[in-house]
Amino acid sequence: MRYDVAIVGTGPAGLEAAITLKIRKKNIIVIGKKDASSKVRSAERIDNYLGIPAVSGDDLAKKMLDHAESMGVEITEGRVSMIYPYGEYFAIQCGEEIIEATSVILCAGVAPAKTIPGESEYLGRGVSYCATCDAAMYKDKKAVVVSYSPEFEEEAEFLRKYASEVIYVPTYDAGDLKIEGVEIVKAKPVEIKGAMKANTLVTDNGEIATDGVFVLRDQIAPSSMVPGLETEGSAVKCARDMSTSVPGLFAAGDITGAPYQLIKASGEGLTAALSAVSYLSKV
Ligand SMILES: Cc1cc2nc3c(=O)[nH]c(=O)nc-3n(C[C@H](O)[C@H](O)[C@H](O)COP(=O)(O)OP(=O)(O)OC[C@H]3O[C@@H](n4cnc5c(N)ncnc54)[C@H](O)[C@@H]3O)c2cc1C
Repeated sequence: MRYDVAIVGTGPAGLEAAITLKIRKKNIIVIGKKDASSKVRSAERIDNYLGIPAVSGDDLAKKMLDHAESMGVEITEGRVSMIYPYGEYFAIQCGEEIIEATSVILCAGVAPAKTIPGESEYLGRGVSYCATCDAAMYKDKKAVVVSYSPEFEEEAEFLRKYASEVIYVPTYDAGDLKIEGVEIVKAKPVEIKGAMKANTLVTDNGEIATDGVFVLRDQIAPSSMVPGLETEGSAVKCARDMSTSVPGLFAAGDITGAPYQLIKASGEGLTAALSAVSYLSKV
């Protein structure tokens, strides 16, 4: 099954794109979180979303989800790790699954400003963004997990089912975290080194030899997620119609750069959706 459009991200940009494409009767898949966006939810009070004054982030996220659901939008819970443009269509890696779509709208939120030196260079050669996808390749091998959020502790546990040794390096305050069968190393990642493949994580507390490094953060740098995608700094470079350097791929919201604001994200979501409709009519 090939979708017309895959939307990556369920914040205001992604949900606005989704309802617009539903109105245009397109066959879509919306990949992200069922609770919309932790960013929206964390806002205590929002005063600049036209038509909905003095609203809490939690309430606004609920209104957005209810609106989307009322229009038949379904959210597929998941995290996209790679998007491969094949010309006629895109192959989207989401966990172990590959999803196909003719067009993609990237709405994954603000892009990380920094990657670890060596991360992009070794991506696909010993560096991975998805433990679920690549765990099976680590049978009887050693893996290091650099994690930017407690939500990835489960992934280290999962990886341990395959790898003979897993070292978990949290970049957040992990307290006295314990994961069965996994060694926790509290250190700051400095560089990923290797030869043909990555084989060492350099930290501020010494080097860790490994067969591979999993870098798990909520947001993946767009240029790492989509081969050939042009960026300006960390943001996706877009034209006014939200098209990117990759034909058929559009972007919207914080991922396209400042201002990081809700109504700008929603507006870009709508523009990207209409541009995707126009793209579909030509291919
Ligand atoms: C505390 C706080 C207060 C704020 N207050 C205001 C305010 O008062 N007014 C205002 O206008 N703006 C405010 N903002 C900014 C506003 O929340 C953002 O501009 C807006 O949420 C951006 O929407 P977005 O859809 O681009 O991205 P996001 O809301 O960040 O949504 C991105 C979604 O994509 C998902 N995602 C990321 N990577 C992937 C992947 N690889 N695969 C699948 N899904 C993925 C994320 O989990 C998330 O659900 C505030 C932000 C914060 C943090």
